[in-house]
Amino acid sequence: MAQQLEFEVVLYPDPVLRKVSEPVRAFDEALQAVVAAMFARMRKSKGVGLAAPQVGLRQRVLVLGPTGEEKDDLILINPIVVARAGDRTVFDEGCLSFPGIYAEVTRPDRCTVQSVDLTGRPLEAEYSGFTGRIIQHEYDHLEGILLVDRMTPAEKLKHKSALDELVTRYKRARPPEGPRREAARQG
Ligand code: ZN
Repeated sequence: MAQQLEFEVVLYPDPVLRKVSEPVRAFDEALQAVVAAMFARMRKSKGVGLAAPQVGLRQRVLVLGPTGEEKDDLILINPIVVARAGDRTVFDEGCLSFPGIYAEVTRPDRCTVQSVDLTGRPLEAEYSGFTGRIIQHEYDHLEGILLVDRMTPAEKLKHKSALDELVTRYKRARPPEGPRREAARQG
């Protein structure tokens, strides 16, 4: 039996969130375990989507649960957004890596995505509305692009104290001296 994985959500401004993720090449049990643990984390945190960098993995893996019902779950591995279309819509986006922050973000309504499933079989589909929105948000994570980058200057100002608080918390958890800094340098 595969070992049970458990993930925590990596919070802004952890530098792992800024890394560009690598394509998945092995469609094996380890990948299945990662996806299962990502879904478990997403549900526990009451999220509707999660990207692998948010659990500290630089892999191009997204899980989505747009309705909360298992039948609507989506797994997108090595996704490529090949087209974006439709009206540009404004939506209050949240992110598990930015707890408590919801910011207005403008994105096109629809996107066409090529990806593969857990077995490496290719998939292509167009997504719109809430699902299209989540995919575009999660896809950003694979490129190291974060909610804060999508905020207008006004939104950034509105959330400045909450963002500063996350930075303060991150620094407090990681003192600038000691073994942790050494580990970070090697990473
Ligand atoms: Zn996010």
